[in-house]
Amino acid sequence: MRKNLHAESQDEGNDDSGVVSVNETLLDDEVFFQAVEHCPVAISITDLKANILYANRAFTQVTGYSKSEVIGKNESILSNHTTPRLVYQALWGRLAQQRSWTGMLLNRRKDQSLYLAELMVAPVIDQNNKTVHYLGMHRDSTEVHELEQKVLNQKLMIEAVVNSVPSAMVLLDDSGRVVLANPSFKALAHELAPDEPLESFLEVLNLNMEGCIKSLMQERKCFDGAELSIDLGGGSPKWFSCFGTCIDVKNESADGFFEQVISHYSLLMINDVSPLRRRQQETHLNSLKALMTEEDMVQGMRETVNGAIHQLQGPVNLISAAVNILQRRGESKQDEAILSALEEALQAGQQALDNLEESLPAPLQETKQPVNINQLIREVISIDSQKLLAQGITVEWHPSLRLPALIGRERRLRSMFKQVFDNAIDAMSDRSVKERELTIVTRSEKEMVIIEISDSGPGIPSDMHVKVFQPFFSTKASGQGCRGMGLPMVQEIVSDHSGTVYIDPNYRSGCRVIVQLPITSAG
Ligand code: FAD
Repeated sequence: MRKNLHAESQDEGNDDSGVVSVNETLLDDEVFFQAVEHCPVAISITDLKANILYANRAFTQVTGYSKSEVIGKNESILSNHTTPRLVYQALWGRLAQQRSWTGMLLNRRKDQSLYLAELMVAPVIDQNNKTVHYLGMHRDSTEVHELEQKVLNQKLMIEAVVNSVPSAMVLLDDSGRVVLANPSFKALAHELAPDEPLESFLEVLNLNMEGCIKSLMQERKCFDGAELSIDLGGGSPKWFSCFGTCIDVKNESADGFFEQVISHYSLLMINDVSPLRRRQQETHLNSLKALMTEEDMVQGMRETVNGAIHQLQGPVNLISAAVNILQRRGESKQDEAILSALEEALQAGQQALDNLEESLPAPLQETKQPVNINQLIREVISIDSQKLLAQGITVEWHPSLRLPALIGRERRLRSMFKQVFDNAIDAMSDRSVKERELTIVTRSEKEMVIIEISDSGPGIPSDMHVKVFQPFFSTKASGQGCRGMGLPMVQEIVSDHSGTVYIDPNYRSGCRVIVQLPITSAG
């Protein structure tokens, strides 16, 4: 007997009523029967009380019950009696509305073993729109569930570990967006760049790490133990050791199923190594102090000898001029005697100059390398700390967080800043100066690192702003131990870095020296 029946599909948006007469097909009933019978999904057809009227082969395979054991029995034979009532209510509720339902049930096989059944039930509706049977299709989803649960558990465990480690961790996608940041990273970003989004904080890190993060993301260049120091001005700077690695994962989207689509991620781990580096820094500062004292001595000797050369050069030039005159005129016996005496004096003078030139200690030989100006200034402040304290000078240190490293001679630059600081300290040591404040600001502008060093001393009269950079010029009276070679040395070092140094003509509350150094200087 052929009837027009259909099972309600889950696709509610489908306009096709789904009522297909078996007569309308080119296939006979036997084909339909065999198709259902051999379908690898457990299929059962029940009456309206869920008593099983038909079960296919897969049903036997999944449940362990033979056909004869289940025909006439209720589907509840499969129930483990632990599926929540609400689930069954939902199932029956949908069937009562002549709609299909899909969900998970905990079933028990004949051998009492449990499995998770992913069940789809649908009403079988006749041509009078009456539900005459129910269709059930289910498969064992235990493994899928186990896998899902495993993934979920692993995710939870990894999250717990990542959230509890003291290292700051951040995961970035290939466009630099933060995919995951642990609480330590968020705390670090908040501490160091409170008002900036995480992505901008990463830019600050990248700049302070000479582009390591960028090359990790763009060139997949991993790094380990990259040092990073961030100076916020007050207190002492912070040091971090960073580790960056690439993580490549297969894309989960459908288009990545047959063709492998790889998503690139970058993992950054940052460890605070400040206590260790602070101890190392103390040792480093002590050796720096010794080194700078030695360099000061050499510089002092160079200045003294240069001074002597400068002073001797005048008389030698005079004698040379007199010799020239006498040589042009020289006829009398008396002239000849004076000429020969003067020639001797000139030779002796020249010899003395040559000797002095030779005795000039060689200037410091140093190759250029990346220099962190903030760190350098911080070192000089530390080296000068005793002097600053002794003179009651307060230091306002405003380092820029975004200061690129520049290519320069570290030791020479350090000596240069020390000279400018010492000048400022010296100027503020005057008893008339009541408010003693040294302000240092760094910033970067158009491939330049700019350093402003302002003191609250008496300042330098504007007509002397250029002269102070000339050798042997001093605003102080002679005999005050001032050689007038400090600022020329500053000028020379800055020029060696293709930079400029000048006294700010607009600064009225003391003296402000502005040093501008290009990030990459020639030479
Ligand atoms: P029951 O007393 O049978 O029913 C529990 C609740 O279900 C009731 O409180 C009531 O709200 C609702 N309910 C039960 N029968 C009807 C009904 N005829 N009309 C409206 N509401 C009703 N259950 C499984 O555990 N595993 C299966 O694999 C499974 N497959 C099914 C396949 C089909 C096609 C259908 C129609 C049902 C299937 N069921 C299955 C549901 C099953 O028939 C039982 O309802 C369920 O197992 C709960 O049985 P019970 O003896 O614990 O409680």
